[in-house]
Amino acid sequence: MIKQQNPWKDFFKEEGVERFSDILTPREQKILEMRLGLVDDKCYTLEKIARKFQVTRERIRQLEARSLERIRLHTLTKLRCDLCMKEYPEEELSRPQSKEYSHILLCQDCLEDIMMGVKKLKTNI
Ligand SMILES: [Zn+2]
Repeated sequence: MIKQQNPWKDFFKEEGVERFSDILTPREQKILEMRLGLVDDKCYTLEKIARKFQVTRERIRQLEARSLERIRLHTLTKLRCDLCMKEYPEEELSRPQSKEYSHILLCQDCLEDIMMGVKKLKTNI
């Protein structure tokens, strides 16, 4: 039998659930950890988790789905500045005027630094 790998499991192996503590409650984090087997490599059933938290199975299913959706949105809307590599929401990043660099995204700070000549863009970005 081929063991199916959950892509979320790989995702959290790299990012960690704690990284999302600002958008998930401690309970939601715990549910994800149990569902995806992040703690002891055992994936708990909805039933088992529901019993532990003393709520319905459906409630756990909802919390899991909602948490993953929130993380998906959170990670989708965050982009990186190509120069300082910090994360910003999409609307805070802009592209330099020059055509040569139009594929590059920059945060306000880096854009100003470039205009003032403090930082320089490299063509190989
Ligand atoms: Zn930057």
